[in-house]
Amino acid sequence: MTSYSDVSLMIDGAWTKGANGRTIPVINPATEEVIGQVAHAEKADLDRALEAAERGFQEWRKVSPFDRYKVMRKAAELIRQRVDEIAPIMTLEQGKPVIEAKGETLLAADIIEWMAEEGRRTYGRIVPARLPNVHQLVMKEPVGPVAAFTPWNFPINQVVRKASAALATGCSIIVKGPEDTPGSCAQLIKAFVDAGVPKGVIQLVYGVPSEISEYLIPHPIIKKVTFTGSTPVGKQLAALAGAHMKRVTMELGGHSPAIVFEDADVDQAVNVLGANKFRNAGQVCVAPTRFLVHEKVYPEFVEKFTAYAKNIKVGNGLDADTRMGPLVAERRLHAIDGFVSDALAKGAKVQTGGQRKGNKGYFYEPTVLTDVPLDARIMNEEPFGPLAPISPFKDFDGVMKEANRLPWGLAAYAYTTNSKTMAQVGAAFESGMVSINHHGLALPEVPFGGMKDSGYGSEGGIEALEAYLNTKFISQLGM
Ligand code: NAD
Repeated sequence: MTSYSDVSLMIDGAWTKGANGRTIPVINPATEEVIGQVAHAEKADLDRALEAAERGFQEWRKVSPFDRYKVMRKAAELIRQRVDEIAPIMTLEQGKPVIEAKGETLLAADIIEWMAEEGRRTYGRIVPARLPNVHQLVMKEPVGPVAAFTPWNFPINQVVRKASAALATGCSIIVKGPEDTPGSCAQLIKAFVDAGVPKGVIQLVYGVPSEISEYLIPHPIIKKVTFTGSTPVGKQLAALAGAHMKRVTMELGGHSPAIVFEDADVDQAVNVLGANKFRNAGQVCVAPTRFLVHEKVYPEFVEKFTAYAKNIKVGNGLDADTRMGPLVAERRLHAIDGFVSDALAKGAKVQTGGQRKGNKGYFYEPTVLTDVPLDARIMNEEPFGPLAPISPFKDFDGVMKEANRLPWGLAAYAYTTNSKTMAQVGAAFESGMVSINHHGLALPEVPFGGMKDSGYGSEGGIEALEAYLNTKFISQLGM
């Protein structure tokens, strides 16, 4: 029997309720039942978290990278050992199928290990001097206590990239986790605590997101801000951080174009794009969003992609045969419905789906739309759901113009068997990440991040650690 426990705050090494005992209900999106409560932090709790983070930073920065690595490796091991406990918690609160929840949990262990190992390689350098007896050193130092704000779509993955880069470089962190999906996020923090991360190094709080960010970001103890979520909120938080000259990483929304050229392997494109469109019910920042298909293969692609979507088994993520779970919350059901009714009112055609599935649980049918005009909202705003608008194109310049039309630049996809087209399209996309003929994003060792309105900074690869380091130059005459 899968059970869900109430979720506490982690402050200064102790699991604790909020100072006033307030809680927020957690809802299972597959059943609409309240399955638990998450503690609500008050200002007094945030003050304690800030003081703890400052003390934790002073202690953790002195721990050698090798010893930090050993503690982090242990956290990764604990996560692997606990995967069968953690994954159902994520499914209960977030809705995704257990197989996806397991994949996310195991990837977290890989990310922790990679960041921990890379933390041992935060090398400085020696720059040859112009004068005799001068020594010029470039040092890397941890930036300091971090405030991290993470969303509900990947309750572990969005946190682990931030927490493990911070810890690997010697920073402390306060995570404001997702109130919709607090339990699995807390399991990640628990693995760090149980592995022996000293108290004060990692805190976890929940509450009213805007109140917490408005308090933490300007606070003098906080030296770095990192946020994953929507572009409008990211712009607000970046502006606040800018006003206080805080280092910032912003992982924001996207509206990823997926181009299928006339020489593509259509079956491969359908299978890979279909899997990534409907994974996590489309609630993925790098999900393919605008499907742009060459007119010669358009009818075949639409037919096969529609068949793919019709075949997806939608249901409770705890059921073994479920391939797509519910949307995370009732508000997302209304949001997705809004995109579809707007598109239909403007002349779009539904190939499959187009409505809520059942009347219990926040299920929405995998949906394929064609004939969607460019002024439909779905062609201009991030849908963040299981909707696939497919449009035909004629030529390379025209399709690249459409691919780069929107202010976002997170991920972009292309399918072609022509190596010249591969090189051209890779260069032409205005996007932080490009994947051609497969879905090759989000591994720990490769950069993960956007450009334009999708934000700045990277949460993978060596760039992920650089974001938590200050560069200090020391020039010394003598000795
Ligand atoms: P939302 O904008 O209210 O919230 C998105 C996330 O930002 C949540 O985790 C929320 O707690 C946090 N947030 C919101 N306001 C905040 C503030 N002032 N300070 C700190 N954190 C704040 O929207 P939502 O209904 O939860 O999700 C809808 C949209 O959010 C989606 O359409 C999508 O564009 C975006 N989103 C993006 C990602 C991503 O991975 N980039 C993840 C989740 C949601």
